[in-house]
Amino acid sequence: MSVVTLTINDKLVSAQAGQSLLSAIKDQGIDIPTLCCLEGLTDWGGCRLCMVEVVGSPRLVASCVTPVAEGMVIQTESQRLTAYRKMIVELLLSERNHICASCVMNGGCELQSVAAKLGVDHVRYDYLCPDLPMDASHERNVMDPNRCILCTRCVRVCDQVEGAHTLDVMGRGIQQRVIAGLNQAWGTSRSCTKCGKCVQVCPTGALFKKGATAAEMEKQHDFLIWILDGREKKIWRWS
Ligand code: SF4
Ligand code: SF4
Repeated sequence: MSVVTLTINDKLVSAQAGQSLLSAIKDQGIDIPTLCCLEGLTDWGGCRLCMVEVVGSPRLVASCVTPVAEGMVIQTESQRLTAYRKMIVELLLSERNHICASCVMNGGCELQSVAAKLGVDHVRYDYLCPDLPMDASHERNVMDPNRCILCTRCVRVCDQVEGAHTLDVMGRGIQQRVIAGLNQAWGTSRSCTKCGKCVQVCPTGALFKKGATAAEMEKQHDFLIWILDGREKKIWRWS
């Protein structure tokens, strides 16, 4: 595979041709906020938190869906980037109900942790908080669309890793939400294998296991790499 050279934060580095900018940035040990991105799932570029400045381009680009290119010069941190990242998080917080104190994922939520890292201590926008019905019809899990940030991780894992494609997204704007089956109660969907992968990858408290205590809520996103690596090598057990 050919190698390209580019400049990240004033440092000349090399990357594999075809590699995403985000992955090249991470290879350099640079921390960059993300929410919709998860290793093991296809990149989607939905949350835009991973955007970076590319010299010569007036617009900011989402690094997860931008391939590296020879001679590219990028900056991952600037006042402009921080301002936009904070605005994105504030808009997410204002769109639905993210009252952390009453959420099952308080302390283990990725949205909460990104907000804290960016120093989001207040929200400048009006709270919308539509009153969306929860779905507790599933035998093991609960879906609370009021906590959902529409990152589609659950949709992608159900389709791309479990192969069930029980979940999808319906509607537009404030009414957009994740649905099961043909917009039916999750518990009545016959395609759901009850594998729980969607719950594990959800970054917020929108999907959670029934009956688990707050201390048991820590989600294990790294299981995806374990599964995908095992499939590739045809190794199903680790000693
Ligand atoms: S439990 Fe598994 S099959 Fe059911 S919706 Fe979640 S990922 Fe899909
Ligand atoms: S339910 Fe969770 S994983 Fe699915 S789109 Fe909403 S926040 Fe993302």
